[in-house]
Amino acid sequence: MATYHVKQTEGDWQPIEADDVEGASESYVDQYADPAEGSTYWIVLTVLTPTAEEIRIESYAVDPLEPECPSSAGHHWTTSGQARGNGGGVRWVDRCSHCGLERHRDTWAQDRVTGRQGLDAVRYVRRSESEAVPN
Ligand SMILES: [Zn+2]
Repeated sequence: MATYHVKQTEGDWQPIEADDVEGASESYVDQYADPAEGSTYWIVLTVLTPTAEEIRIESYAVDPLEPECPSSAGHHWTTSGQARGNGGGVRWVDRCSHCGLERHRDTWAQDRVTGRQGLDAVRYVRRSESEAVPN
């Protein structure tokens, strides 16, 4: 373990104990980034290593928290419908067979801030009975 410092574009340096840059980024995001309601968003991180090297990481994904399943067994995801091509990736929807929550996955999402494409994104959608879309 060593002390790294990590910040977002508009943030303050935060000291993070980690083994490497990847670990420092993950730990920073766990502690300081708020998972958005519903869908993945991306942030720019700057990591200062113990040897004073500054590393900029663009489009670091902050995934949304998975809403809880009312079923005591937890979500049971089944893929609903066909995966559709999207740019160089695919999108598809998983649906919980217990509560109907939809998990939309996209392997070619775009970070609107940096314009970077080909990112993994996840989005949770809870439909009321009336707007449920049959497959
Ligand atoms: Zn569920």
